[in-house]
Amino acid sequence: MKDAISIERVNKLHPKLRAECLALLDKAEALLPANITIRVVQGLRTIEEQDALYAQGRTAPGKIVTKAKGGKSYHNYGLAIDFCLLVDGKVSWVVDANWLKVVKVFKEAGWTWGGDFKSIKDKPHFEKSFGWEVADLLKLYKPGQYVPL
Ligand SMILES: [Zn+2]
Repeated sequence: MKDAISIERVNKLHPKLRAECLALLDKAEALLPANITIRVVQGLRTIEEQDALYAQGRTAPGKIVTKAKGGKSYHNYGLAIDFCLLVDGKVSWVVDANWLKVVKVFKEAGWTWGGDFKSIKDKPHFEKSFGWEVADLLKLYKPGQYVPL
């Protein structure tokens, strides 16, 4: 993992996921051409941040970007990441063969890819739930703490 910003974001994920996520990013990056790196654009998103995002396109300006209210996303528990590719240092959201190499690495490790979601496809998104439903995670949630898994 070459990107310092991404490493910082991974280090705020749920402690149970950090090492695995970094190892998978390393593994995926090794499969990519030398001019392409992975950028983690988001990891942990607090419930307050999620509520603000949910308001976007509904009660606040902008377009709708999520169907999950605060507490309803694995991001809220540090159990999800969104990524893009940096091609020659420039952000790319093109879902090409390189993108799918990253997808394959994470799926093989048991992560769920947002591109496989039944309703709104979310191709930058991976999550690992350890079998937990978000409703149950919300019951365990205490602000400023990671849920005990
Ligand atoms: Zn996401």
